[in-house]
Amino acid sequence: MARRNILKMGDPLLRKISRPVEKFDEKLHVLLDDMIETLHSVGGLGLAAPQVGVLKRVCIVEYDDELYELVNPVLVKSSGKCVDNEGCLSVVGFRGLVERPEKIVVEYFDRNGKKHTQRAEGYFARVFLHEMDHLDGILFADKMIKKLREDE
Ligand code: ZN
Repeated sequence: MARRNILKMGDPLLRKISRPVEKFDEKLHVLLDDMIETLHSVGGLGLAAPQVGVLKRVCIVEYDDELYELVNPVLVKSSGKCVDNEGCLSVVGFRGLVERPEKIVVEYFDRNGKKHTQRAEGYFARVFLHEMDHLDGILFADKMIKKLREDE
């Protein structure tokens, strides 16, 4: 496993649309393992492959001590609205208030190509949506309704 460098806002790779994973192979497993190590080294709730310069539809979420590895995630249902505070490992110096759906259903594949369906709500849903946005080149800063200081 190896720690990877996290790209910062301004890097053009963060603005690209990532490609779906087609092979659930060793290369994918190494990417996921490296992303986990990278996330643990810096702390945070999630990390998406484009943040480490890999334009694949892969992200990880760690929430309530549970780790989710999402490959080719798709939002299949969403309802409600809520506003909360977000930050990002690729955005240095500020956070922001972002409106997101309150409840979601996401379908994704795990590292072995097995399909899963995950329901989430509140901040847990928010983390999924934030990471999935990265796969389409979107950062929270694009959506925020209010900019906040890092410590707010
Ligand atoms: Zn982020």
